[in-house]
Amino acid sequence: MQERLHGIVRKLLAEGAIEYFIGYGQGFEPHNVAPCFVAQEDEVEKLVWGPLCAHNLSKYALRAREFDGKVGLLVKGCDARAIVELVKQHQIERDEIVVVGVPCQGQVDLRKLEEVLGLPLDVVKGVEDVGDDFLVTVGEEKQKVAKEQVLRDKCFYCKHPNSFEYDFTLGDVMPFSIDADKGEFALVEELEQLSLEERRAFWQKQFARCIRCNACREVCYACYCKECIFDSLAPRWIEKPPLVGENEIYHLIRALHLAGRCIDCGECERVCPMNIPLSLLFKKVQKDIAELFDYEAGMELDQVPPLIDFKLDDQDPFM
Ligand code: SF4
Ligand code: SF4
Ligand code: SF4
Repeated sequence: MQERLHGIVRKLLAEGAIEYFIGYGQGFEPHNVAPCFVAQEDEVEKLVWGPLCAHNLSKYALRAREFDGKVGLLVKGCDARAIVELVKQHQIERDEIVVVGVPCQGQVDLRKLEEVLGLPLDVVKGVEDVGDDFLVTVGEEKQKVAKEQVLRDKCFYCKHPNSFEYDFTLGDVMPFSIDADKGEFALVEELEQLSLEERRAFWQKQFARCIRCNACREVCYACYCKECIFDSLAPRWIEKPPLVGENEIYHLIRALHLAGRCIDCGECERVCPMNIPLSLLFKKVQKDIAELFDYEAGMELDQVPPLIDFKLDDQDPFM
């Protein structure tokens, strides 16, 4: 698949169809893969594909307008929803980018892998997808690890293993099937069983650990405002020190701003240095949007997001 990717990108660059291509490349350490920008035909060998290619690269599509030509992008099925949303939200034109869809059967959660191995990640020299397992190279040894133990949570409920929005595709795969005995909203439903006070206490405990590094905002494809409300000095909506009350406001504002736009990529949680369960917060928002408006973000180009639309029979209990 990697060779096919190299071939497509080489051809696009040779024909001048794109100015550069954004994919994945080797990071500083063997277990790290990082976004990789390729502008020359002789650089395409730098592009890699595998179970460590976690990033949602659609965030970089926002830069496409800064260039005269088109930008190429490697897109997994889950990330394709962000492309659809960016077009709908008028942040990019679909014809400004060339999308190469990549089939995916699951990405590794590095925190889970570290726990399962019981070793620091710097001993991991590589991870390959071999069907139901990952083959992990630890030092000189290769070790099988069951996917169920180390998959990213979102991959257990993967609905789109193949990118459904693409100009070129690297192939098709079947969804990786795991006997998930719980639904995708199971954890949200558990939390909903708690009283209001208990839920508040749960989230306050989580938000108390937040250092407001803004990594969750920076990585989110949908956080593209030129001046973010959290950076505004006049008016100043939120104080800089990461106090619990301010942190609560930060997370509630983000949750509301992302309602109907969050595409469940899980990037915010992946990059959080404090391991705050942000996916749980955004899953709750997705569940509410699905129940109230029968809407799932990023699925159809011609569906209007519910919070920028109104109908005469909309529920308005707050009025
Ligand atoms: S959710 Fe699906 S497409 Fe996205 S990383 Fe997981 S398996 Fe791949
Ligand atoms: S990434 Fe984590 S620590 Fe940083 S602002 Fe977001 S929730 Fe807080
Ligand atoms: S809020 Fe988190 S899960 Fe939702 S789109 Fe942004 S980064 Fe992805």
